[in-house]
Amino acid sequence: MKTRIAVLGSIHMDYVIVLEKMPRIGETIIGKGFKMTPGGKGANQAVAAARLGAEVYMIGRLGEDLIGDELIRNLRKNGVNVEYVKRAKTHSGVALIFVDSQGNNMIAVAPGADYKLSRSDVDEALEGLRNLVDFLLLQLEIPIEVVEYAIRRFSEEGIKVVLNPAPYQRLSRDSLARVFLATPNEIELELMSGIRVRSVEDAARAGEKLVREIGIRNIVVTMGAKGAIIVDEGGSRLIPAFEVEPVDTTGAGDAFNGALVVALARGRSLAEAVRYANAAAALSTLKVGAQEALPTSEEVERFLHRYRISDNDK
Ligand code: ADP
Repeated sequence: MKTRIAVLGSIHMDYVIVLEKMPRIGETIIGKGFKMTPGGKGANQAVAAARLGAEVYMIGRLGEDLIGDELIRNLRKNGVNVEYVKRAKTHSGVALIFVDSQGNNMIAVAPGADYKLSRSDVDEALEGLRNLVDFLLLQLEIPIEVVEYAIRRFSEEGIKVVLNPAPYQRLSRDSLARVFLATPNEIELELMSGIRVRSVEDAARAGEKLVREIGIRNIVVTMGAKGAIIVDEGGSRLIPAFEVEPVDTTGAGDAFNGALVVALARGRSLAEAVRYANAAAALSTLKVGAQEALPTSEEVERFLHRYRISDNDK
């Protein structure tokens, strides 16, 4: 049977202009290149999971515009179920991104339809999905009250909620305690715990504080090239990243979250799922872009197989 998961979150179009240097206020600069790419953490994570073979139900909103038409076409093309992607009487979510020759970026986001997501969207999706999915994956690029409502309603139905708290927004204690798993990166963990995170030991300490004091059941802290740390009641352990030579780490976190939930929904243990997610995320860093760089399940399996062979050679 196909693994089924739901993803609630943002769907954006990213407009990227590459420039020699950033414009100052009032200045016009002629850019060196332009690219339009589908993005938004919600859509990226949904596509990540779909590429890995899961049946993914996206819950989100698009504007009534050409951007919305293109974004829904892109989700369909990637095999994402769009039954619960609705339109809103506004523009679709967009991000305008400047990248200079040193690789610095400046980003402005206009969320548009993403911020029109409502509680009734959550109710409608839950009605259709309550007997279909075991996991809901969500992030924080949509209204916080919709996030909190979805966490409560889905968890009350026994659906396991995985929260990627990015970009960071403050959530109530009650919401956090209902989450099955939270997946902050180092910065988000710092903001959630109030503890400075500079090392694996700091992350373990901050994660343990959240488990103990807030009652979050499981935490996986993503630590870039170091890998990811699992923290639960029993303590913490690092699952090291795979050694690769990254070309572009944009979207590694999204690849990681999508893959993690797919592996969990397939019944893998948290440690196995993190190893799988580390592999998918490492592969995603080998190509430029967020969605274009996401690996298929065959690519992840082949990569893990090669590692198993080279481990045996050691
Ligand atoms: P975010 O981009 O959300 O801050 P991270 O930078 O922590 O997330 O990356 C997410 C995951 O991607 C890591 O836990 C790791 O599995 C993988 N990853 C990121 N950077 C690298 C890298 N340089 N080499 C190998 N894996 C990486």
